[in-house]
Amino acid sequence: MKLKLLGTSAGEGYPGFWCECENCTLARKLGGKNIRGNSSALLDSDVLLDLNAHSIDMFPHMDVHPLALKTLLVTHAHRDHFVPYFLQWRSMAPKYRGVPEKQLHKEISACFRELPWLDIYGNRFAEEAVMNDAEVAGKEELCKFRFHRVEAGQKLQIRDLEVIPIRSIHTEIFGFAFNYIIRRGDKTLFYALDAGGWEPEMMEIILSYSYNCVVMEGTFGLGAKIEGHMCLEKNKDFLETLNRHGCWKDGPNLWLTHIAPHWAPPHDLYEKIVAEEGMHLGFDGKTIDI
Ligand SMILES: [Zn+2]
Ligand SMILES: [Zn+2]
Ligand SMILES: [Zn+2]
Repeated sequence: MKLKLLGTSAGEGYPGFWCECENCTLARKLGGKNIRGNSSALLDSDVLLDLNAHSIDMFPHMDVHPLALKTLLVTHAHRDHFVPYFLQWRSMAPKYRGVPEKQLHKEISACFRELPWLDIYGNRFAEEAVMNDAEVAGKEELCKFRFHRVEAGQKLQIRDLEVIPIRSIHTEIFGFAFNYIIRRGDKTLFYALDAGGWEPEMMEIILSYSYNCVVMEGTFGLGAKIEGHMCLEKNKDFLETLNRHGCWKDGPNLWLTHIAPHWAPPHDLYEKIVAEEGMHLGFDGKTIDI
């Protein structure tokens, strides 16, 4: 498996969209990996993890091909992760189906190639976000998507993928979040955004697998331990827990993403700090070989 990180910031962006503090100013000055958009990722060529304004922005830069996308796993309905609005641009007016593409360029339609169905998986709050979006509600057929509500701990078979949704401890605004254990072939990934921790029954499932790679949020960086998100100390605790339970297939391979500018320094500085703790710091455009 290959996981391409399309975005690696927390909600406010990195630099913060509206901020000119020391970290935000330095990130702007340094550019490159120090600039992060809202978190999402592409697994191989067919599975998208979250769909936000930034991920759409990254498609042309990151070799993402809409015709290859078949599955969207939504972590939760926070808008730095899921903006259903963008699904409307999948529509192709039925009267244009089968009409040669060259003729269509004189016509009006959101897209000119018929897309494969996009199967979307998420919790009931993600489903509500779709139903409450005036531009996509009721347009499943037109925009070729199907929403599947999934439950915590319920193992799913999605084509050749085995997926286990894990309910995390996160804010309850717009409902809880799902992390996903994803297995393809002999590889296993745990994608854990947004998560401040897990209830014991979820932790039991997490620790029952061994992983080739874990990608987890590191929102609060060098800040204090709080509920609802991770900081570096909590990242270290989780890495230690995985090590202690023998949860790695080929040794530790933990990547941090979902980084906030007000507790984590810009990438060029924070990367070294994270590396000293035995972890990797993700950045926009990074492809992780799993
Ligand atoms: Zn988030
Ligand atoms: Zn700032
Ligand atoms: Zn969130």
